[in-house]
Amino acid sequence: MVPGTATPVRLPYDEPSYNDLLGLFPPGTVTAPDGGLRIGGCHVAELAERYGTPALLIDEGALRARARRYADGLAARRPNSAVAFASKAFPCTAVYRLLAEEGLSIDVASDGELALALAGGTDPAKVIVHGNAKTDDYLRTAVETGAGLVVIDNFDDIDRLERILAGTPGREQPVLVRVTPDVRPDTHEAISTGQRGSKFGLLLPQAREAIARLRGSDRLRLDGLHVHVGSQILDSEPFVQAVEAVAELGDFDVYDLGGGLGSRYTYEDRPPSVEDYLDTLTAAADALLPASARVIVEPGRSMVAEAGVSLYRVVTVKRGGGETFVAVDGGMGDNLEVSLYGQRFEATVATRVGGGEPCRLVGRHCESGDTLSAGVLLDDPRPGDLIAVPVTGAYTYSLSNNYNGSCRPPVVFCHDGQSRAVVRRETHADLMRRDLP
Ligand SMILES: *Cc1c(COP(=O)(O)O)cnc(C)c1O
Repeated sequence: MVPGTATPVRLPYDEPSYNDLLGLFPPGTVTAPDGGLRIGGCHVAELAERYGTPALLIDEGALRARARRYADGLAARRPNSAVAFASKAFPCTAVYRLLAEEGLSIDVASDGELALALAGGTDPAKVIVHGNAKTDDYLRTAVETGAGLVVIDNFDDIDRLERILAGTPGREQPVLVRVTPDVRPDTHEAISTGQRGSKFGLLLPQAREAIARLRGSDRLRLDGLHVHVGSQILDSEPFVQAVEAVAELGDFDVYDLGGGLGSRYTYEDRPPSVEDYLDTLTAAADALLPASARVIVEPGRSMVAEAGVSLYRVVTVKRGGGETFVAVDGGMGDNLEVSLYGQRFEATVATRVGGGEPCRLVGRHCESGDTLSAGVLLDDPRPGDLIAVPVTGAYTYSLSNNYNGSCRPPVVFCHDGQSRAVVRRETHADLMRRDLP
């Protein structure tokens, strides 16, 4: 798929067995007697009234339940293990705090994410430090705060860490080596990371060289290997291939097997369940890796995507010319997934859930690629209607931007009929805050 090109209009309701719109929303989402959605027990119309639109709604219970499914599921299959949230999927302090409360480890990919993780109460010993271009400042902060693991991506990482640790006597930094397994999952090019030619990690011969160097280091302690092949992966095979690749490099104490499990965005998507994924991954680990080794998984998208719903208001409806354009008050400023990787989303009028006429749901931004859903059925959409787009918890907040002077939306946690903003909406004053006279 070419980024920015719109997919043809589809009629998902042609497939009656997929006609389960509520199934794409966080578990527990229901329709109220007036036909409006209730997310985390909160009515969308009341949420729109209180917080405005666009807004990113998070079902807090669904997020906690997903964290527990991952943590309990992995522990049951592989007791010596840990689940780390790949926090770039949703790096706001409230999410770090919630997942730290759930006992998860946290992946960071920059000094900014490290600062956010620590501000959110993450135990530094549970932080895993990633990045293909780690600066001195980032690595120094990681070492000084006591980050649990630093993942070596390249030989410069080794040089830098050696230098930094020379200035902190007595501190030994545990590290993993990131292996490029030469696995190409069936996902968008921009989010495939494990193939030959990837900018991430070291191919097997170079990984062997890094391992040898680290074994000779008295400041870096080589605990094991890391591998991550990409994102939005909808079949299990690439995960097994990744385990096979790291198994070739010998026996280690720790294997971090990355993230990448896909989420169900559309009726057609059939990702493995968390349990199926963990079954596959731990079976491969049990067969190919040392029995005593600690296994880490790093879900990002699949941890947060399905807990999120974006709420918009229709600004205009344009009919004629063979297509109905429904334009809302958000778009690529708050959801860049469509433009970046052609991600597809379903949607509904939030107060009249279910079918209707085929529409193209578009944003308010000045690009034709600013489409939220190229083909979706909406029930008699009119200006002022609320539109709910499910499965927007992952990579929307983190990729949100101020294109066309848009103010980034609030993040609202909903639970048991109570709601609270954990991130406020940006204001025009925020847009000018960094400008100097
Ligand atoms: C992005 C990333 C993840 C998470 O990927 P998801 O597809 O969001 O699960 C895990 N590990 C590393 C190193 C990553 O860069």
